[in-house]
Amino acid sequence: MQPSTLSILLIISISFTIITSAAAYKPEIIKSDAASLSLGSTDYGNIVHDIPLGVAYPSTEKDVVELIRASHASGEPFAVAARGRGHSVRGQAMAGGGVVVDMTSLGKGKGKERIRIDLEGMYADVGGEQLWVDVLKEATAVGVAPVSWTDYVYLSVGGTLSNAGISGQAFMHGPQISNVVELDVVTGKGEFMTCSRTRNPELFFGVLGGLGQFGIITRARIVLDKAPTRVKWAKLLYSDFTTFTRDQEHLISNNASNYVEGFIVTNENAASDWTSSSPSRKAEVAALLKKQGVLYYIELVKYYDNNTAATIDQEFDTLLKELKYMSGYNATTDASFVEFIDESGDIDNGTPPLPSHPWLNLFIPKSTIVEFNAGVLAGMLPKLNDTSGIFIFYPFNRNKWDDRMTAVVPDEEVFYTLAALHTTPQDGYKSMDEFNNEILEFCKSKGLKVKQYLPNIKSKKEWMDHFGTKWEIVEKRKAMFDPKNILSPGQRIFN
Ligand SMILES: Cc1cc2nc3c(=O)[nH]c(=O)nc-3n(C[C@H](O)[C@H](O)[C@H](O)COP(=O)(O)OP(=O)(O)OC[C@H]3O[C@@H](n4cnc5c(N)ncnc54)[C@H](O)[C@@H]3O)c2cc1C
Repeated sequence: MQPSTLSILLIISISFTIITSAAAYKPEIIKSDAASLSLGSTDYGNIVHDIPLGVAYPSTEKDVVELIRASHASGEPFAVAARGRGHSVRGQAMAGGGVVVDMTSLGKGKGKERIRIDLEGMYADVGGEQLWVDVLKEATAVGVAPVSWTDYVYLSVGGTLSNAGISGQAFMHGPQISNVVELDVVTGKGEFMTCSRTRNPELFFGVLGGLGQFGIITRARIVLDKAPTRVKWAKLLYSDFTTFTRDQEHLISNNASNYVEGFIVTNENAASDWTSSSPSRKAEVAALLKKQGVLYYIELVKYYDNNTAATIDQEFDTLLKELKYMSGYNATTDASFVEFIDESGDIDNGTPPLPSHPWLNLFIPKSTIVEFNAGVLAGMLPKLNDTSGIFIFYPFNRNKWDDRMTAVVPDEEVFYTLAALHTTPQDGYKSMDEFNNEILEFCKSKGLKVKQYLPNIKSKKEWMDHFGTKWEIVEKRKAMFDPKNILSPGQRIFN
């Protein structure tokens, strides 16, 4: 539901006293016009629409500090939520009745000032509001790049570091949060603090994967490596789940490739890489899908540059020969590194009414994936008949994650992610939510110890279960850095 003009006016007038107290210190940075309220109550999910009292447009860190201090010092603290790109799907960057901070305004008019590449130290100092695609452009322009990415790079640095930031490089380098060495953070008390593994570590570990609960990241120092210039990029089709996952696990154990992901194919369109030019393959894929409802493919990439261009084809062939995909069902391309990382470009959702995105993201322990496949991937996904959905499934090495950080993963050395990326017509998400709940119920009934990534959790009990042994430290850090529960209420952990 979009905010109506009447409801907006009503809320503004009722809340006039609070908003003026929030804005008193610097009224020009908080706006309550319809466009601002719409921005603050909209995200990529298009499911939750919590209307804030206003949206703050800070131009400096000091503006963020003063805003949070105003709330913290007030007898009636107001909620504050950083909004990076607003690509959450369940209102996580919203602050109903509070103030949403439009992080992008921190970088407005500052050009490249807020992405500083240090070639000697091999790191980038990046504003929390910056998009990864801009980090990609600035870094590769001087021959370097971050090592860990997300599949889609039009997301803010602060937004992905508040979750984990995962993609096909994470098996080797860990998630994006494992590749940060220092942060500037404004805490929920309005303190501006620099933190790292050795300096204010409690804040550093808290904020990484911290769902915005302990502070607003205004700068991140990100590890860089020499950038490759080109990639060999293959998609390999599998009909058998065990062979598919055995090959994925082989690939994440030997570091012979640079990127490994996997996908679930539930309809012929999703297999067009292999079938579009061959009627016999089209028929074979159709028959297999009819028989077992589902196929799988691995997406595999190996980087190269001028120094390795002469040997890359042979090396890539050797790599593929070790794998047991369906004979002849490999599709290989060559692309620039930037084309590969920015594969999907920015997503244009078209014109209103915009679709809804009731996504479900899970981490699944390796020991339970066969049961998970039988019940969910092969058992439930094909029944959806969902030709617009994308289903991603690939493994990680847990030793690349730092358990001191707030991010939660299963307690096994290898675990997988399932990203069930559904698209429905606006407000048509309820049946997909029921489907997602069936998946969660299945896992619960079978005792599969899955964890949600980008969690959509509502009750305190479920949050305690989600964090497990980390709950105590999460509560402790909340009391240390945001004792008045001001920050990111849209996550619904403490609010
Ligand atoms: C098309 C698409 C593709 C995606 N692909 C991937 C993927 O491949 N891998 C992956 O890991 N994730 C992926 N995601 C999920 C994405 O990482 C999260 O939704 C992330 O939060 C989006 O960043 P954002 O800037 O839009 O964050 P927002 O939605 O703006 O914010 C998310 C949360 O972080 C808080 N926050 C935002 N900025 C800051 C900050 N500077 N400091 C502290 N807290 C902050 C917000 O208050 C909120 O609670 C994808 C999402 C979309 C829509």
